[in-house]
Amino acid sequence: MDTTNISADLVEQIVRKIVLECIGIPGKAEPNPAPELVVSISARHIHLSDADVETLFGPGYKLTVEKDLYQPGFYAAKETLMVVGPRKRMLPSVRILGPTRKQSQVELAFTDGISLGIPLPVRQSGDLKGTPGCVLVGPKGVVELKSGVIRAERHVHMHPTEAEYYGVNDKDHMNLRVYSGPCTTTFENVLVRVDKGVHLEVHLDTDEGNACDIDHADKIELYK
Ligand SMILES: [Zn+2]
Repeated sequence: MDTTNISADLVEQIVRKIVLECIGIPGKAEPNPAPELVVSISARHIHLSDADVETLFGPGYKLTVEKDLYQPGFYAAKETLMVVGPRKRMLPSVRILGPTRKQSQVELAFTDGISLGIPLPVRQSGDLKGTPGCVLVGPKGVVELKSGVIRAERHVHMHPTEAEYYGVNDKDHMNLRVYSGPCTTTFENVLVRVDKGVHLEVHLDTDEGNACDIDHADKIELYK
């Protein structure tokens, strides 16, 4: 390439532009600020179908909102159920999360699975083929789930703009490093779930959250 026709002025302009872009000039386009990262423990819970709500609580029954969750549209219900595993081992009071969905699903930590005698497969929410079942006991009835008991795969919810910030796509996997003194831990294989209607939030279960002492973390990093 013949560069003899490029003037010193033009070179200076180009260099200036690149330097300014690199350092980020106040008042000009700043690099995107890091989105606020929230890490939450998703404690054991149950999602129910409308039909199972009616079987367990009576015809026409609707769940009662006790507390809205961080993700818009989702809530912890006032209602709880008893979860019974094989040989009558049970958890007496497991919270229901709303709204209702197509198929009932029980999300437990490995420790819960050991208590109940149910070996838990690690699955993405809704991927229930071939999973174990359990019995749900409510005030007005009993439902025997043939499948639907899982340990939810650790995951991060994010909006498409946040996925762009991190340079990831739906179903990619990321790493989460939690700095908490002697309990500092890196979680690999954090599943990315991109959706328009969500806030940036990592969901760990109680086993994972306790292992890294998330309540006392002083720094958290999410990276590819
Ligand atoms: Zn989640």
